[in-house]
Amino acid sequence: MNSPYRGRFAPSPTGPLHFGSLVAAVGSYLDARTQDGEWLVRMEDVDTPRNVPGAANDILRTLGAFGFEWDGPVLYQSKRFEAYADALDRLKQAGLLYGCACSRKEIADSATHVAIDGGLAYPGTCRGGLPAGRQARAWRLRVDAGETAFIDRLQGRVAQHLEHDVGDFVLRRADGLFAYQLAVVVDDAWQGINAVVRGADLLASTPRQIWLQRCLGYPELTYAHLPVAANPAGEKLSKQTRAQALSIDQAAAELVRALRFLGQGVPEALARGAVADVWAWAGEHWTFDAVPRQSLILLPA
Ligand code: GLU
Repeated sequence: MNSPYRGRFAPSPTGPLHFGSLVAAVGSYLDARTQDGEWLVRMEDVDTPRNVPGAANDILRTLGAFGFEWDGPVLYQSKRFEAYADALDRLKQAGLLYGCACSRKEIADSATHVAIDGGLAYPGTCRGGLPAGRQARAWRLRVDAGETAFIDRLQGRVAQHLEHDVGDFVLRRADGLFAYQLAVVVDDAWQGINAVVRGADLLASTPRQIWLQRCLGYPELTYAHLPVAANPAGEKLSKQTRAQALSIDQAAAELVRALRFLGQGVPEALARGAVADVWAWAGEHWTFDAVPRQSLILLPA
């Protein structure tokens, strides 16, 4: 990498931090810090109806109490709508973006197969122009039938044929909101991020993000997709699966648990000590090569 390492942690303020998000924060933080890199925090509050009042501040307070130190001010995606609109204009002018009139039901009726992320692959109905008398609801980015691939530092080579595996995807939703895929790509470029370390639940989104980076002429990033923590039933920890909020009183113990989850041989005694001692140990001993190369790890009951 030519420029200095610049990584980030990008939580969505849909609820308090839980163990799953802590793993992503710890992994991205230590990967950055042990390479003398910068580490930024970005609040991904672009999907405004999903934001929970107070969650953003609660997340920042928890990160602070756990001893994370971020560089520069926190970027809020809810303040970035102009930048997202500009990016859409550029794509429109380049003929890469088109209006789509399809309702969910129409897509359900016309789709031929399931997309890689479990939705339906968009069959391209409005690609050649809107049917007569129809209005654009959403805006979609054209993709192609070729392979979009990258080498993940943990998961190895990941490849998708976007046209088949996903279809032209939405950058501006029918409710007028900007899509996560657009916001993340525009902001990573604008903040000069060059290394992404995040949960493997986002692995299937990465080829779409790379495609969009190329359409916008942005530089390429490196990726490491960490194993995702799942409950004994195999469900990713999240608000939906009622993952417990992290408790600030247990900060050292939770950090030790996150380091263990990431394959680090941290002494158990540090769980009963001070947060600063855990970070001192981690700063010296963090070994990226010890991080498990799985995409999902079940936590014991
Ligand atoms: N905001 C996303 C999430 O909380 C993370 C996006 C990213 O790291 O690219 O799942």
